[in-house]
Amino acid sequence: MIPTVRLLPGRDKSAREGHPWVFSGAVGLVGGDPGPGDVVRVVDSRGEFLAWGHYSPGSRIRVRLLERAENATVDEVWWAARLSAAVARRREQLIDPRGACRLVFSEADLLPGLVVDRYGDHCVLQVHTPGAERMRATTLERLGALLSPAAVLDRSDELQRRLEGLPVVTGASAALAADPAPAVRINDAGLTFDIRLGEGQKTGFYIDQRLNRAAVAAWAPGRRVLDAFCYTGAFSVHAARAGAVGITLLDSSRDALEAAVGHLALNGLAAVPIEVRRGNAFADLRRLRDEGRSFDMVILDPPRLAQTRSQAPRAARAYKDANLFAMKLLEPEGILATFSCSGGIEPDFFQEIVRWAAKDAGREVQILQKLGQPFDHPVRLDLPETEYLKGLICRVL
Ligand code: SAH
Repeated sequence: MIPTVRLLPGRDKSAREGHPWVFSGAVGLVGGDPGPGDVVRVVDSRGEFLAWGHYSPGSRIRVRLLERAENATVDEVWWAARLSAAVARRREQLIDPRGACRLVFSEADLLPGLVVDRYGDHCVLQVHTPGAERMRATTLERLGALLSPAAVLDRSDELQRRLEGLPVVTGASAALAADPAPAVRINDAGLTFDIRLGEGQKTGFYIDQRLNRAAVAAWAPGRRVLDAFCYTGAFSVHAARAGAVGITLLDSSRDALEAAVGHLALNGLAAVPIEVRRGNAFADLRRLRDEGRSFDMVILDPPRLAQTRSQAPRAARAYKDANLFAMKLLEPEGILATFSCSGGIEPDFFQEIVRWAAKDAGREVQILQKLGQPFDHPVRLDLPETEYLKGLICRVL
């Protein structure tokens, strides 16, 4: 018997309209005893077919819808075909053999639970749902056939796997890599970065900020730049190449700061005066002001402060304070490039937070450009949750 998930009366609207998540609260009878990662038939309260989906009994998101054609066979072949299509969408970004880009962005590429990033000839995998876990071997096999990667590493997010009731995997386990922390040298818009794939944060490099760095760097010529939450310095390297006259790197991670200084040197930019500050940036932004410092440009790219809407209020206060102190550090007519990668904070709300900061700083602020996700991190219209990264380039008068 094909396992079937029947929705409660009146709880089929969002699935019918295209949203690909079925929450546990919408689920009525479950027939056929599906296990984690099984393909289930999702039907409405009258038994009418809605979609095929991956079942996740331990998750609040009980079913991730995969396919709306009833006559489709949702199996390994189906998954591999979708994976091929996602990679084919990145044709242009695969031309540079040393380039870095996201090859698969989970639901946004119609492959729930799977993220694949590519750094030159290496791939980094994230598997976040039982359904995607079930397809791991198929994923590895198809990636091998399409790209012949030198190695595939697993950098799945622990929290996300726990939320789905999956065991935590770390480092290179369950992947195709002899070396658990290979160093890969990548090219990003003509700049070179060394990435330790098995270490560091995210999947090694914040590739989602790739295009935003060029937009921000356009304002760097002649400016003294504070790069707060700089990680391995990618914004600073772009700013220095564009003509920044001073770079202050600020992060809490010693390793990240070391890598940032290394990246400036690696790109022949060591002649720009560089200052390194390690510490809690939320406190240090305030301290810099107490020291009487000022900058012509501040880049503010904090880590994800809210994962869900419920964490948004608390995160909003942190964002507001950081933006407030960044504004206070800016000379008149200075540039603030401010970001939020929190899915729980929507773009309009983020703009509102920046407005609060401006009020409290007593500064008039112009928005010069709104920034978002690059085209290899597409936003799926049916799943607004796939929009997470937003940025504003502002002039602080
Ligand atoms: N701008 C970076 C990415 C930033 S990721 C880039 O373009 O690559 C967020 C960074 O914030 C990480 O490097 C992390 O080490 C740092 N971080 C997290 N909490 C911090 C804190 N309280 N103070 C300073 N840095 C922090």
